[in-house]
Amino acid sequence: MEKDVDVTKVARQHLEMDDFFTGGFTTKAKVSEPKLSQQDNAASAGAAAELEKIADEVRQCRKCNLGSQRTNAVPGEGNPNARILFVGEGPGADEDAQGRPFVGRAGKLLDKIIAACGLKRSDVFIANILKCRPPGNRDPRADEIINCFPYLQSQIEIINPEIIVALGAPAARTLLNTNKPIGQLRGQFHEYYAGLGRPPIKLMPTYHTAYLLRNYSQENRKRVWEDMKKVLAELDLPIPEQGRK
Ligand code: URA
Repeated sequence: MEKDVDVTKVARQHLEMDDFFTGGFTTKAKVSEPKLSQQDNAASAGAAAELEKIADEVRQCRKCNLGSQRTNAVPGEGNPNARILFVGEGPGADEDAQGRPFVGRAGKLLDKIIAACGLKRSDVFIANILKCRPPGNRDPRADEIINCFPYLQSQIEIINPEIIVALGAPAARTLLNTNKPIGQLRGQFHEYYAGLGRPPIKLMPTYHTAYLLRNYSQENRKRVWEDMKKVLAELDLPIPEQGRK
């Protein structure tokens, strides 16, 4: 989660981020334009309505104390037919203020990663393990995750993405039901078990963008890009070529 920041460092990171995730790449990939048939449109409207129902439940949820401490719940947003679902840890201050996922500094970096992949934010779905902000951005507690996880499980069932990208250890560990460190999990596909009778969904763990901002090395950025290239290859999407770097 995002912590207090030093302004000079932030400015430098923004410049480097632009260079690495946008300016540093020649984006040859075409932004995917979903072609939906009439039947698809009906299914899509159904999925959107079901997702909105869950979002309403989340906004009224008081299963744990976070429900009475939040400003806004952050159910998640995006394309109900998304091929890629990004899952983060939980809302930070900006997300809590706006009721939308990944809109702060970590979100801006996620936007750049999505753009570097030749995609738009509206192509994907973005959600979190926790739907309400833990006070002071503390780590999610086990009981909070247990209460909140069913909302994400239902969202996954409705969206039925081809790939889940788990951003950071809490997301990867919760979705994979493991305690392994993110450094061991990232970089390879795992399987998320979507429930009895449903095929598993491929899951790529990678570093959380907030971690990337705090540990802003070329090496870490390359690791995330390598992970995303595997995701694009798995989906048969064009991989934008790296330009200068
Ligand atoms: N970090 C997260 O894990 N989720 C958000 O929505 C924003 C920051």
